[in-house]
Amino acid sequence: MNNSLIICIIFALVHSYICERLNLGYDIENNDIENNDEQCNTKCNADYSYLSTPGDFKISTEDREYLPFDNNCEKTLNEPFMFVQAADIQFGMQERWFHDRIGWAKEIKQAKQLVADVNGMNPRPKFIVMCGDLIHAWPSFPNLSEQQRVTFKKIFSGLEVPLVCVVGNHDIGNTPNNETILTWKKNFGDDYFSFWANGVFFIVINSSFFKDPTDAKELAAEQDKWLEIQLKVVRTEKPKHAVMFQHIPWFMVIHDEDNDYHNIDKVLRKRTLDRVYDAGIRYVFAGHWHRNSVGLYKDLEHVVTSAAGVQLGDVMSGYRVVKVMEDKIEHEYHTLGNPPQ
Ligand SMILES: [Zn+2]
Repeated sequence: MNNSLIICIIFALVHSYICERLNLGYDIENNDIENNDEQCNTKCNADYSYLSTPGDFKISTEDREYLPFDNNCEKTLNEPFMFVQAADIQFGMQERWFHDRIGWAKEIKQAKQLVADVNGMNPRPKFIVMCGDLIHAWPSFPNLSEQQRVTFKKIFSGLEVPLVCVVGNHDIGNTPNNETILTWKKNFGDDYFSFWANGVFFIVINSSFFKDPTDAKELAAEQDKWLEIQLKVVRTEKPKHAVMFQHIPWFMVIHDEDNDYHNIDKVLRKRTLDRVYDAGIRYVFAGHWHRNSVGLYKDLEHVVTSAAGVQLGDVMSGYRVVKVMEDKIEHEYHTLGNPPQ
């Protein structure tokens, strides 16, 4: 038995173990371990080394890329899959908002339920994306922020599927600056990045740069340049679907509604929506409003998902289960403790 065959067999065994643990839906049965090395790598498996384990939270982005997925491999896959989108678990909001106290026992309970719901889903979601406001405390309260981040990492390291973290205004402040962005990056990785999953191209943006770039003009301009490159990818590679994740939605209900704390400036909104629409993006998923809403810009579906934490509307805390199919993307809001059967 030569060395490469031994490596292949070890790889297949490890691969099998990983797939079984993650239940990512990859077909490992057809892996011919007696074939060459290239054959060993024909299936895309999440990179285990970048996934958090209970108590050990790992940052999963680097150089604007999402590390658990192999872009080259994921680009060519073409299978239906599902993912979970949640937002605004916002540790500390309940006590601060309603009682002017410090504490986050309720969000701990909600976060644990969310993790349990996701881990219990069959088939397993390809990933879960947390669309911003992981914590409630503003950066001007660094100790409190840190305590809330520690809680977030402790609970979400228990996820058994890859986690995609999107930055929210509470995480970096309503007027972010170099320092608050750096704190985010040290704790959760890049504030904007892109990745492929099963033939779908996902663009994750820092929406706060569109909301108020006053103290981070250079960083906002860098993101804008980067976004143009990503839109070019959409135009040239023509993915099955192109999807954007962000915290602050472009709009809450109607695409030409007036400016509000919970949306992006009307003129910039129209200009940017035209940009992303013309490139081929047809789905946007956001949070921030703590209410559910599905709106349209032309035929781009703009989805605002209510909070996994505190509600400001009339639904219960929950998350969205998103099914990605060949010709469409469907999604449904589920309350905590009531995952799809
Ligand atoms: Zn927010």
